[in-house]
Amino acid sequence: MISSIVYGPVPSRRLGRSLGINNIPPKRCSYSCVYCQLGNTTNMQVEREIYYDSLEIARRVEERVKHIRENGETVDYVTFVTDGEPTLDINLGREIEVLRAMGIKIAVITNASLTWREDVRRDLQKADWVSIKVDSATPGVWSRINRPHGALRLDVILEGVTSFAQTFKGILATETMLIKGINDDIGEMGQVADFLKKLEPDMAYLAIPTRPPAEQLEPATEQIINAAYQIFAERLSNVEYLIGYEGNAFASTGNVVEDLLSITAVHPMREEAVIEMLRKAKTGWNIIEELTEDDKLTETEYQGKKFYMRKLPRYSRRVPE
Ligand code: SF4
Repeated sequence: MISSIVYGPVPSRRLGRSLGINNIPPKRCSYSCVYCQLGNTTNMQVEREIYYDSLEIARRVEERVKHIRENGETVDYVTFVTDGEPTLDINLGREIEVLRAMGIKIAVITNASLTWREDVRRDLQKADWVSIKVDSATPGVWSRINRPHGALRLDVILEGVTSFAQTFKGILATETMLIKGINDDIGEMGQVADFLKKLEPDMAYLAIPTRPPAEQLEPATEQIINAAYQIFAERLSNVEYLIGYEGNAFASTGNVVEDLLSITAVHPMREEAVIEMLRKAKTGWNIIEELTEDDKLTETEYQGKKFYMRKLPRYSRRVPE
């Protein structure tokens, strides 16, 4: 229904105040990821299609932005984040062009499975910020985690992603979802990080499902997420978590507990860094003990060193009606 195409704005750590555009009817996707919070894909497809009138989409965004601004609020990005894969919309490039003409920055969150197509790469080039999904760099793991459409091949996709990254002038982010027992072994994470290094993304995000996924599964553990962070950080300059907290590692509130929780929601802190922070705040280690007892912080180890990170949020699975 076209009335539900524009929603928000919602606060986003990555994009500030983001107005969402859902340019795909539910749920059309080239993947059926095991962790998809929209459930299993009902319309698996790789062919691009016309879904909505692009001028009508633009009109609705314009109306909404006008209303938001009249209320003294702002929009930082209009973001294509959909009930499926946004690049399946054959009008995506045209929609981006029309929206950019309104002076609004455009973001697209894509699974990247169609970037082997030149027309898709051309459309994405028009955006200011693009996030691409890379959960795996090996075909077996990719099949298990993303459950792709039968016409897709990982090597072809990764070539398309590389070619896109080489020419994209905007901000490139990558997103890797970590799932226990599927893509959370050290070797696989190293291969993903090696691939991402070639892309030189502005930011590489490590994520876990924060809402009930399509299949019964468990997110990777804190131990693994810390290890993944260290492996990524050895090869990439900017790595952050997306683990369900809107942490901000860069804004100090002056309150040591809040600062610790926001930093460790974004990346793990070495024990020495925690000690230094407590020293500066003229406070003791008992704060760490209390946060650990309250299940807000957890201690993990990597290569003999201690790290502290936010305890992962636990979602509760919906009970079927
Ligand atoms: S690519 Fe996104 S929308 Fe498609 S199945 Fe995976 S998580 Fe769901």
